Amino acid sequence: MSFMREIIFGKTGMKVSELGFGGIPLIRLDKETADSVLRRAFDRGITFYDTANMYLDSEEKIGAAFRGMRDRVVIASKSLKRDAAGMAGHIDKSLRRLQTDYIDLYQLHQVSREADWQTIKGPGGALEALRAAQAEGKIRFIGFSSHSPAMAVKLAVTGLFCSVQIPFNFIEVAAADELFQAARSGHLGILAMKPFAGGMIDNAKIAFKFLRQYPHVLPIPGFDSVAAVDEVVSFYATENRVTPDDLAEMERYRSELGRQFCRRCEYCQPCPNGVLITQAMGYRVIAQRMSPAVAVEFCRLPMESTRECNACGDCLEKCPYELPIPDMLKSLYELYQQHRQVLKK
Ligand code: SF4
Ligand code: SF4
Repeated sequence: MSFMREIIFGKTGMKVSELGFGGIPLIRLDKETADSVLRRAFDRGITFYDTANMYLDSEEKIGAAFRGMRDRVVIASKSLKRDAAGMAGHIDKSLRRLQTDYIDLYQLHQVSREADWQTIKGPGGALEALRAAQAEGKIRFIGFSSHSPAMAVKLAVTGLFCSVQIPFNFIEVAAADELFQAARSGHLGILAMKPFAGGMIDNAKIAFKFLRQYPHVLPIPGFDSVAAVDEVVSFYATENRVTPDDLAEMERYRSELGRQFCRRCEYCQPCPNGVLITQAMGYRVIAQRMSPAVAVEFCRLPMESTRECNACGDCLEKCPYELPIPDMLKSLYELYQQHRQVLKK
């Protein structure tokens, strides 16, 4: 039984379920499991599926699950290519993998830097290929994703796009003001990625209570099991309003994580010196949530790997959140050492 409401996805006019499906976790599922998770999502009323050319076989799994029922789902994909030839190649590749002759929404993936945007919109840039593909009927609508609210506002007001995809959850609320306003006045569909802040929010119920306060925003959580689909869909069965206790709990998460925290996107990997950046970045939260003793044991390998960091800056270029990674690793290593000293006593 489905009780999922439908919303109109901005100026595309497409009707989609109020909850979508993010395709990253499909990478780690075998084909049969991916198929059952996707079909369960569909059976529970989810009609919007977001994937990307870079998510390995995620497109293939979505294509296989919905073969023969293409017109009953809305499929979005995206590419990191910045040039026209590269983008055209990726669109064709996405079409083949998805086993379809059209993709509803194709997005410029992660446009967070000005230099990328200049290349994309310049002569021979990816925007040319997107428009050509749209004219040929290979894609219906063009959107973009970004990790930078400021950059997203800049693109949203160009009038060139039908949708914006941005991290949005009760910890990362920067998009709520200027970007949502710009997107709504331009009638762009809004996709909320990272509803769990890259795994930092482990209370799904309040994560979705928060998101449901924004009915014009379409969350696209990743699902890796039928149980996870059932759990999140169940939050949509009732009104599920935010209570004062929920607000206090959200505040607890915010103060625990601080302003700068790693979202575990892994764009910074691999480190040329073998530092296990993502795992090490989680040290403080693991120590707070579980205990220093558990964190010291569990994170020994990544924390020891941080000693190989020579501050080369390679990861700084790649982090979409512009985190001062070497400095953060240094202070996390100091905390790890403090914990070890205390535990030795
Ligand atoms: S700054 Fe450190 S962690 Fe970052 S890539 Fe260089 S060595 Fe690796
Ligand atoms: S440090 Fe930055 S790039 Fe690396 S995983 Fe964390 S948020 Fe992503």
